[in-house]
Amino acid sequence: KEKGSSKESGSGSKHKQELFPQPLVSFDQLRTQYNISRRLLSNIKDQGYVVPTEVQLASIPLLLDPAKSLANSDSFVDTDAPDLLSIAPTGSGKTLAFLIPILHRLISERKKSKSETEEHGLKAIVLAPTKELASQIANEGRKLALNTGIKVTLFRKGMKIGTSLERVGDEEQSDNESDVDDHEKRAALEIKSHVLVSTPLALLNSLSSDDGKERSLPTVQQLVLDEADVLLDPLFRDQTLGIWKKCTNSNLQSTLWSATISSSIEEIATNFWKDRRRPSKNDASS
Ligand code: ADP
Ligand code: MG
Repeated sequence: KEKGSSKESGSGSKHKQELFPQPLVSFDQLRTQYNISRRLLSNIKDQGYVVPTEVQLASIPLLLDPAKSLANSDSFVDTDAPDLLSIAPTGSGKTLAFLIPILHRLISERKKSKSETEEHGLKAIVLAPTKELASQIANEGRKLALNTGIKVTLFRKGMKIGTSLERVGDEEQSDNESDVDDHEKRAALEIKSHVLVSTPLALLNSLSSDDGKERSLPTVQQLVLDEADVLLDPLFRDQTLGIWKKCTNSNLQSTLWSATISSSIEEIATNFWKDRRRPSKNDASS
């Protein structure tokens, strides 16, 4: 929050400008200033979104302009993806605020590596405390990702995350729920998706396999905790942190979204971030 920034004049506001990316004023700016794909922008507009909400105008630039955000961070880290704790009231549009940056990053990376042989795997996970919420997020994600080549999947019981990092997303996206309603069929389904939306327990269960071997999620670069206050309260905390720990990518970006935040939750997140961003645990002096 930039208190009273509008009242600042001269060098004061100029200074601020250099430290923080400016808030968005329109979704069009996502294209002119942040070079999001034409398709992603038109998908946003097709949903009827015209003016970004407050949490969107503030959060999206922080996530899309990491250089500026990180230069101003208390603890500068050498990564291109900042972590973020975003607090905004219920109904303020947090879903779009985290989905746009996720999709933008995936679309850009996909473009870059299209000609290369690099394979794609699961790149982003969104955790939500209830199935209903996870389903809503997945639906919104699918609409925004339409024809971008990025696949968004709602994780369901019985699904398994594909072990092979095959290129995904070129095939048609199936919204046909009956395909996966059959539990038998679902069990055989290996998820090959860029983005997975799930409750913590369903995903965690699928990662502890029958042979006792624990699987991790090394390809995941972006983790979103939606309703982070709930995901980190005592009921869900172990499950949520269990998944967080399995995201072993050293450049993992984790963002937390919530309507309320307690100091204990902030502390858990901050400690987690510190650990993650400090790969050499030997010098854990603080
Ligand atoms: P939150 O997660 O903060 O509670 P949601 O992401 O569920 O809020 O959004 C609440 C409602 O606002 C949804 O119906 C969503 O479609 C709508 N919405 C989100 N962003 C915008 C926007 N920029 N303009 C208009 N409506 C929006
Ligand atoms: Mg929400």
